[in-house]
Amino acid sequence: MGVNLELRTGTKNNRVLIIDDNLTHRAILEDILRSNGYETKHAQDGGEGLKVIPEWKPSVVLLDLVMPGMDGRTVLREIRNMLLPSRPSIIIVSMQGDKDTIVGSLSDGADDFIVKPINETELIARVKAQLRISDFYRQIEEDKKNLETILAISNAMSATLDPSEVLNTIVTKVAWVTEAVRCSIVLIVKDDEGYVLASHEDPSVKELKIDLANYPEIRQVINTKAPLALEDVVNNPIMSIIKDKIQALKDMSLLIVPIVFNDEVLGTLFLRTRKREHGFTQKEINFCRIVANASFYALKNARLFEKVSREKDFLKEIAVKDQLTSLYNHNFFYARLEEEFERAVRYETPLSLIMMDIDNFKNVNDTYGHRIGDIVLKEIAAMVKRGVRKTDIVARYGGEEFAVILPHTLLKGAVDEAERIREMIESHAYAGLVNDRITMSFGVASYPQKGAMNSGDLVNHADDALYRSKWSGKNCVKVAEG
Ligand code: GH3
Ligand code: MG
Ligand code: MG
Repeated sequence: MGVNLELRTGTKNNRVLIIDDNLTHRAILEDILRSNGYETKHAQDGGEGLKVIPEWKPSVVLLDLVMPGMDGRTVLREIRNMLLPSRPSIIIVSMQGDKDTIVGSLSDGADDFIVKPINETELIARVKAQLRISDFYRQIEEDKKNLETILAISNAMSATLDPSEVLNTIVTKVAWVTEAVRCSIVLIVKDDEGYVLASHEDPSVKELKIDLANYPEIRQVINTKAPLALEDVVNNPIMSIIKDKIQALKDMSLLIVPIVFNDEVLGTLFLRTRKREHGFTQKEINFCRIVANASFYALKNARLFEKVSREKDFLKEIAVKDQLTSLYNHNFFYARLEEEFERAVRYETPLSLIMMDIDNFKNVNDTYGHRIGDIVLKEIAAMVKRGVRKTDIVARYGGEEFAVILPHTLLKGAVDEAERIREMIESHAYAGLVNDRITMSFGVASYPQKGAMNSGDLVNHADDALYRSKWSGKNCVKVAEG
């Protein structure tokens, strides 16, 4: 339980398969091996032995030479022709100890040769030697895989500037090497706020916000700045506060490695695996540490990228929006109107424009003060926004003037919408105004109406109509005269 730092390598096994037709010989070999802590299986002829090997994957095969049916030398060659994930060591155990037999067996692919009768210490020493060699090979294989992964990651980093691509490469490769069921990179923003920036099971994950209160293991790593390997996740004391929520993690192991630089934990590499008996190996932990170090710059870039694009969005937003009402500003209004006008001309669709102006707003300021005036303006802006359709564009045109662009809308539809808004404004009780009511005057113009040639014409026509509303006593909707 807890931090697992004992040194183990790979998924080695100590399985020994005995292929011998003689029952007594098999029994003696099995007895010696079992009492020395080896796992054994036996087969009484070559055919049976060849079936057991790919299923059970023994590390060592003890093979008799003289057997009925398939003889030992043939079995030996058959094993060497098998496509196996790892190569078993084969020790020939035979009565025939002559040079020709020994040399022939070794050249057919045997790794060692023992002459019967069996001597216990010799047998164990030779089996051990074979296991040592195959272990060595496995480690080299693992190191090779790890180095290839680190190379692939550094290639990905130099090939692209897009941090999310780099992070995706990292999680995919690490999951492949460690056989993790989940591998992700979490960016730490605050003590309780993190973002999953990449996750190997779902490449579309780019910025999934997580509440670190639900990840006590990540919090621990932030505090200790050291890798944490957890076995028996569900019953681990570190996880006790979320124990009820993590029943699905039964039989899982976790590995969390901090991505640290200059004493700052920028993020974590997070791995979950369905384990094999002992959780993550020391070699896997070391490998993840190297990868975590290598991910630092990608993560830092991702954070910077993030910040810059957020600032860009913010700047874009304030460039087009009015600060007080959050409606679009005058400049944006003109740009959009021009666009919509061109679209209307090109596709021969109608386009309408409503201009509106608060009646006697000066009085509101004079009576209640400028601050209350601002609050009323905001309230009206929100109401207009609520009163229009989704596709309409509402802007603050001037101090107490608003404009609504209505794409694909005929004059009649725009007049109805203006009338609806007029009634809403008139009937609303304003928070700061005691008993006073507010009214607004409206002017509506449409394309193709009254020979509007461009967006400027449309504005002038709506403005004229608005002026006539004011002139005829305010609180009404007038249309541009055709
Ligand atoms: P009318 O019915 O003819 O439109 O009368 P009005 O008083 O509304 O028109 P006028 O153009 O004389 O005055 C507009 C007033 O709107 C004056 C100005 O102080 C006020 N105003 C414009 N922008 C703001 C603002 O952002 N906040 C506040 N509180 N008042 C504003
Ligand atoms: Mg006014
Ligand atoms: Mg005005």
